[in-house]
Amino acid sequence: MAQRYVRVQNQEGQIYYGLLQLSLNVQVLDAPPWLQGQPTDLTLAPENYQILAPCAPSKVVAVGKNYKDHAAEMGTPVPSEPLIFLKPPTSIIASETEIKYPQMSQRVDYEGELALIIGDRAVDCQPEEAQTKIWGYTIANDVTARDLQTKDSQWTRAKGFDTFCPLGPWIVRELNPGARLQTFLNDETNPVQSSCIDQMVFPPDVLVSYISRVMTLLPGDVILTGTPEGIGPLNLGDRVRVEIEGIGRLENIVAAR
Ligand code: MG
Repeated sequence: MAQRYVRVQNQEGQIYYGLLQLSLNVQVLDAPPWLQGQPTDLTLAPENYQILAPCAPSKVVAVGKNYKDHAAEMGTPVPSEPLIFLKPPTSIIASETEIKYPQMSQRVDYEGELALIIGDRAVDCQPEEAQTKIWGYTIANDVTARDLQTKDSQWTRAKGFDTFCPLGPWIVRELNPGARLQTFLNDETNPVQSSCIDQMVFPPDVLVSYISRVMTLLPGDVILTGTPEGIGPLNLGDRVRVEIEGIGRLENIVAAR
């Protein structure tokens, strides 16, 4: 199994980056791994930590309509260049925590996505250099208040509510370019979304290059690469699980805000 990089909090509230071992012990690092964090002598047993989202970015940059079949289901063409927007870092939550359904919305959707973790400051990169700025990969759910996305002329509210960016549960460094992404609701065995990440219109290196020509990307920043077709609503009490082959599963429950 690939090495899994986690971020955890101990019972005293101390936050650490670490390596998740098969025993589920966490070997603590002395810094974030993309800042050359090295293993320390400290190990946390499973009963002594809770898992957090795997990084604490300065920003989350998301990409809209980056799968042809999803653009089609939205009734729109594929954009001629990447369509980017921001989600606030305060929208991030860990796996196994609650997505809070806001009172302002009557239609909240899941969007299973591959997330890229930036390891190195990136400004004005060509795609080849941009690829080297991608430190690792995790799973995201770009939760969206669909009714407000339609109502507002921009997406800050629809995409920016607290808890609207489940992220994790951990980061891996390598990913099969043809890895399958699937989203499941509750106990249904058939996925509501199922696609391969190589179906993206603009692949990861092109996205990082493009975004780096707009804004400086910092170590630990997160890029959400878009969702495939099959988006749909969440209801109170639903469990939503996004899986990516070679990474794992990100699972959250929907509760009232
Ligand atoms: Mg999305």
